[in-house]
Amino acid sequence: MDAASRFARYLTLNRLKMTRSRRAILEEVLAVEGHFTADDLRAHFRSRGRLVAPATLYRTLNRLVEAGLVHRLPMARGQARYEPIFGRHHHDHMVCLVCGKIFEFESREIERIQESVCRRKKFTLLEHTHQLRGHCENCSRNGNTPAAGQAPR
Ligand SMILES: [Zn+2]
Ligand SMILES: [Zn+2]
Ligand SMILES: [Zn+2]
Repeated sequence: MDAASRFARYLTLNRLKMTRSRRAILEEVLAVEGHFTADDLRAHFRSRGRLVAPATLYRTLNRLVEAGLVHRLPMARGQARYEPIFGRHHHDHMVCLVCGKIFEFESREIERIQESVCRRKKFTLLEHTHQLRGHCENCSRNGNTPAAGQAPR
């Protein structure tokens, strides 16, 4: 099933229609490389002369997350980041609490352990979010991080 039919099925299940703006947002989001904020997406639409109401944009992004097409990365500071996951290679994230940089990583071992934990609980795993929060190499080196063991503000 392609992304558009998956989204259409999700909308039908939720008694919603595939409107022109929903379709436009889906298409733009699927074309993005990397992580973006809702404001980035709005700016992108604006630069192409398309006006999308902020409320529509936020709601549609949430729908895309619920439909399993987009992943939402909550940030300790600032706006959440989004990224398309449909048809993309799976990876997890490390987020620096100081500079906000996002690092992607993959660990076959962590994936395998998650799957076996679910199997033991007879839990059917559909997707997961694995986010590690801390200080990147650069921020640790520059000493502008709270002392280890101290909760980040
Ligand atoms: Zn993972
Ligand atoms: Zn950093
Ligand atoms: Zn990512």
